Amino acid sequence: MANWKKLSQEAIRDRVFNALNQNVNYYSEKIIGIPASHLDDKVFYQDAPFLANAPFLSTLIHNPNHIGCHTLGKSESFFKGTQEIEKELINICSNTILKGDGEFDGYVASGGTEANLQAIWVYRNYFIQEHGADIREISILCSSDSHYSSSKAANVLNLDIAYIPVDNESRSIDINEVKKVIDQKKTTGKKYFIAVANMMTTMFGSVDDPNTYIQALDSAGVVFKAHVDGAYGGFFYPFSTPDTNLNFSNPGVSSITLDAHKMLQAPYGTGIFLIRKDLISYANTKEASYVEGEDFTLIGSRSGANAIAVWMILMTYGPHGWYEKILVLQNRTDWLCTQLDELKVAYFRQPGSNIVTIKSENISKEIAERYGLVPDNHHDPRWYKAVIMDHVTIEKLEAMVLDMHKMYKFSVS
Ligand SMILES: *Cc1c(COP(=O)(O)O)cnc(C)c1O
Repeated sequence: MANWKKLSQEAIRDRVFNALNQNVNYYSEKIIGIPASHLDDKVFYQDAPFLANAPFLSTLIHNPNHIGCHTLGKSESFFKGTQEIEKELINICSNTILKGDGEFDGYVASGGTEANLQAIWVYRNYFIQEHGADIREISILCSSDSHYSSSKAANVLNLDIAYIPVDNESRSIDINEVKKVIDQKKTTGKKYFIAVANMMTTMFGSVDDPNTYIQALDSAGVVFKAHVDGAYGGFFYPFSTPDTNLNFSNPGVSSITLDAHKMLQAPYGTGIFLIRKDLISYANTKEASYVEGEDFTLIGSRSGANAIAVWMILMTYGPHGWYEKILVLQNRTDWLCTQLDELKVAYFRQPGSNIVTIKSENISKEIAERYGLVPDNHHDPRWYKAVIMDHVTIEKLEAMVLDMHKMYKFSVS
């Protein structure tokens, strides 16, 4: 589906302003039934001349509400113009970036945390409604390197969670470990499982093979759903590693989380939740009767400007431009790894990742702090990570490497 093509700045501006024109205009129309309006005009400029060329800021000021889920047909008609752009964004993510076929549901969530919670919420309700599950029979499975949002989901949704240990060097999970945990959980009455596979972990950039979970769960003969947490890696890994099975071409993957506010450098509030058709209805809140189209999301009211920001970034680069950006970050990461190899420093780097995680005994606390490296644990660091973002130039990496050279000279002499 060739739905993602680079657009000129003018084309992007026209598209967004046309969409705003299809939304309600609180100034010129008689809208007296909703508890919403444009941003406060004593505080936020409404008529500054630069706004004519600023589609994102203009959307912020118009303040459209994207409450609910727009891929299901019916949503608040007051904001249908910008909601249409969100629908297009969801389609680009699920079909082009994540290789899905056909239609998907999804929405721009507050972040990866919400998107992961949303997935687990949908599956919990699915097991209850379709299989008569008791929540005490449901267990979340994820690796010990997983983001804490899975633990948060278990707590909020009152579900059991099990962590599969990872190999200390390869950071990968072993199918026999997964099978062991499933067997143990079965003996405690667990019958339904939600696997969360990582497309780049927060600390290591490590990647799980979702089929490790899928095969182990299949062979255990239990009911399960598999979700992919691509909050960190969703806009990186599919470009660095196009032949991955962490996408919708894998029939075992039901839903995926992406965060545009990490690698895509979008404003905060731009997690993206994507799911195969006929599942999001398990998260419907029928009591949301005042919302046109009801509400299938965790969040409720949310800013339409967030969806516009993400769409604008994708359209400004286009698929080739984005691929090139990822290539540059990969090159810089390669450069850092070559320098660390020369220093004989022990580190972890997943192929196709822009995170380099250095063993704490190989770098001084002073250097780690000087360059803002982040420890795995603030009380007793075992690892420090470098994340090669847009602003992390080779010049900045070079300064750190030079300091490491000095440190090693001292420790040798
Ligand atoms: C950052 C991150 C999250 C949580 O995302 P927020 O946007 O901070 O809520 C979840 N999973 C992974 C792998 C992450 O890196």
